[in-house]
Amino acid sequence: MRGSTHTTADTHPPTRTLGHWIDGKPAESTSGRHAPVYNPATGAADKRVALASAEEVDGAVAAAKAAHATWRTSSLAARTAILFRYRALLDAHRDEIAALITAEHGKVHSDALGEVARGLEIVELACAIPEKLKGELSTQVSTRVDVASVRQPLGVVAGITPFNFPAMVPMWMFPVAIACGNTFILKPSEKDPSAALRLAELASEAGLPDGVLNLVQGDKVAVDRLLEHPDVAAVSFVGSTPIARYVQLKAVEHGKRVQALGGAKNHMLVLPDADLDFAADQAVNAAYGSAGERCMAVSVVVAVGDTGDALVRRIADRARALRIGPGDDPASEMGPLITREHRDKVASYVAGARAQGAEVVVDGTEYPAPAGHEDGFFLGVSLLDHVPVTADAYQDEIFGPVLCVVRAETYEEAVELINSSRWGNGTAIFTRDGGAARRFQLEVEAGMVGVNVPIPVPVGHHSFGGWKESLFGDLHVYGNDGVAFYTRGKVITTRWPDPADAGINLGFPSNS
Ligand code: NAD
Repeated sequence: MRGSTHTTADTHPPTRTLGHWIDGKPAESTSGRHAPVYNPATGAADKRVALASAEEVDGAVAAAKAAHATWRTSSLAARTAILFRYRALLDAHRDEIAALITAEHGKVHSDALGEVARGLEIVELACAIPEKLKGELSTQVSTRVDVASVRQPLGVVAGITPFNFPAMVPMWMFPVAIACGNTFILKPSEKDPSAALRLAELASEAGLPDGVLNLVQGDKVAVDRLLEHPDVAAVSFVGSTPIARYVQLKAVEHGKRVQALGGAKNHMLVLPDADLDFAADQAVNAAYGSAGERCMAVSVVVAVGDTGDALVRRIADRARALRIGPGDDPASEMGPLITREHRDKVASYVAGARAQGAEVVVDGTEYPAPAGHEDGFFLGVSLLDHVPVTADAYQDEIFGPVLCVVRAETYEEAVELINSSRWGNGTAIFTRDGGAARRFQLEVEAGMVGVNVPIPVPVGHHSFGGWKESLFGDLHVYGNDGVAFYTRGKVITTRWPDPADAGINLGFPSNS
């Protein structure tokens, strides 16, 4: 299935250019720079995306800054009325947005619909912003003195997002940010930019004032300008660990608040008392769903005690039966990978793992491309057993349909392995033992933990974020942390004096 040097993209130049969305309307790029946007199922690039210059970013920031003056003082009722309309519009366009995701990312339609649904949760959270921004009041802290703590917006804030959730991850950010009274610049992934562009258009259709939500297409040039721009107060980033680390350092250097979510290597621990059929189902879903291109994908199963052989057999049977094909075919359970280069890199880990001592139980590199899609970026699923922890397949985030199995003698050994990982995004335990599950919750070093739940992505009113090299910064995204990130506290101490209080007193104010 590999080895083809010819690509449809070479023979069919792009017919459509995707531009920016600035100040409530489309904005054509003036940079003269573009990147191809592929349909991973066909390998064709019939679209291209603009790559903004620093000056174009400046234009978007200026629009956002101008809009902030009135948006920050708009009533909560006015903001939530727009957000409720936005929610209804997104709901009505679920299918269309999911189709855009499938056409550029490759994931199957049902998975893309799931992504839109999880993004909608955050719009629903934003609809509840009056509840989240209620603040605190203490009356009579001193005689005739009250203290109120309120939270106010930061100003212009930016979001930089990855390819793997082209609608959901932007929706983790901008609905909360704008509900809090900020204006927003979104820089989506240049690999699959159409879904985010549609989200911005629909926000305007819902009545969001011009300039409140802006979208700039681009690459490192746009990211760097956002990180340097003096009028950008805060940056949310989601992507790979090296870029997350870079974004955090550069944003801090320029005096910005930053949350930068990075990569992951999520371990699923299976204890001997677990229901092995259930665990195998869940491992397959979580390892190979979305072709493994999820930051919460399970990429390592840690089989404890004598579960290994029986579990691997069950996973292998299920993995071999998966139907791989174009995402818009309802029969497909898994689609292609995002680019040809990424597909080939993922495939190279399978051969590498074999050379480094792993047993290749299922070899996805031998899977034939679906008929009629020979130029698509398809790869079968791979299952690697007895993977040495020194192997690259264990050490690196592969971000593809490759599941590693490692064996551990005891629960303690398994937890020590998980805790020695440089990442700490999500993890899960599969067991029937409540005591072991409770101990795992307390001991494991990861930001999101599942008990018999392989992909524990928190619901919208909780917050999403990892530990260690999976998150640079302090606050997680959405939920209460999201509201805290996009606002700053102000404490107001008020006295309405009684005429009897008059008089000079140079002493330090004390409470009485
Ligand atoms: P990426 O880091 O390559 O790109 C993310 C964003 O950064 C994109 O908008 C891209 O244009 C920009 N970018 C890329 N290179 C840059 C550079 N040198 N300087 C400045 N900006 C740059 O990530 P990706 O390949 O799009 O997404 C996959 C990665 O994202 C995986 O590592 C995955 O684990 C991670 N991810 C993490 C989470 C999470 O919540 N922790 C969620 C989704 C994805």
